[in-house]
Amino acid sequence: MIRDFTLHTKHCSLYIHVPFCERKCGYCSFYSITDKRGVNSWLEAVKREAESYSRHGRINLSTLYIGGGTPTVLTLSEWESLMSIIRDNFDTSSITEATTEANPNSLTPEYIAFFQDNNFTRISLGVQSMNDTELLTLGRIHDSESARNAMSLVKSSGLNLSCDLIFAIPGQTLRSWDYSLRSVMDYANHISCYQLTLEPDAPMFEKYGGDDLNGVGYKFYRYAQYILPRHNFTQYEISNFAASGHECKHNLAYWNHSDVIVLGPSAVSYVDGVRYTNPKTLAEYSAGIEPVREKLSPRESEIELAILSLRTRFGVLRKNLLPEIERAVSEMPPDLFVITPERIALSPRGMRLGNYIWSEIMLYAES
Ligand code: SF4
Repeated sequence: MIRDFTLHTKHCSLYIHVPFCERKCGYCSFYSITDKRGVNSWLEAVKREAESYSRHGRINLSTLYIGGGTPTVLTLSEWESLMSIIRDNFDTSSITEATTEANPNSLTPEYIAFFQDNNFTRISLGVQSMNDTELLTLGRIHDSESARNAMSLVKSSGLNLSCDLIFAIPGQTLRSWDYSLRSVMDYANHISCYQLTLEPDAPMFEKYGGDDLNGVGYKFYRYAQYILPRHNFTQYEISNFAASGHECKHNLAYWNHSDVIVLGPSAVSYVDGVRYTNPKTLAEYSAGIEPVREKLSPRESEIELAILSLRTRFGVLRKNLLPEIERAVSEMPPDLFVITPERIALSPRGMRLGNYIWSEIMLYAES
């Protein structure tokens, strides 16, 4: 595909989707496969896609994020190939944050040494729970002991650690949620809390799809909002809490609607006001099927910017806000927002009611 932009003149963020996992988790609806025989064709397709971005020169990266799937199912030699593709096509000298996701059962000291040698600054670990029964319910491949070992390994390496946790797991109690939160607080400087949601294609859907997970989730979310700030983790986005200065720069680039190149199957890039949606499956991606290209109008970009940046406690600049969205905000309860002359952001209460706020904003924006 001819990409009509001049990104090599500025900085942008790069995300690479590694679509392989050792086993499928019970709640998973992400695109990932357990058959690793396609790794070489994935690497070749990632290389082709990276070259399509860099044909005018290597693009300066500000942040790098390797996610999945499970990046630590790649062997170290496959990781070497991936890093060569990145270095050949992008200028990595100005990267301020480089993260890889990892699974507790496959993160070894050898991987940690590799990540340090390759200037990674941060590991995002899929802990999900520190209760073994809950991990079994979720169909995770690891147990709480391997999660603790992996967290300890990262902490002693000096790399920054982010941990993902899930709430509203069937059978979960506030006590077990408190234990999971406190356990990861001992090691991490960034914690992401996600409510369990089950799409119809998730393996757990048949058993738990009828449960009111939203209703159940509210008390867990409120508890996280209560306990984490008392341990110096500030909520800076609907699902994310960080110690001071440890907010995820890569995700902030996404929420600020900055240029983010995303490589891999089912990846969606946003570059110079154009969204590129890659084919969903590895087979289609490796066959070179072109991404769907969608030029956003200035109005569509402004709506997206408002919705994305309103997810964060930094909010959106009012001068960038469409009058319809400002009006939607003015007709909702004021305690959902923190409003200053320059900015509008969600308050902690507003973060709890995010879905209601987005749907109101969309109603006004589309009227
Ligand atoms: S590790 Fe993540 S991507 Fe892989 S199956 Fe589990 S939830 Fe899905």
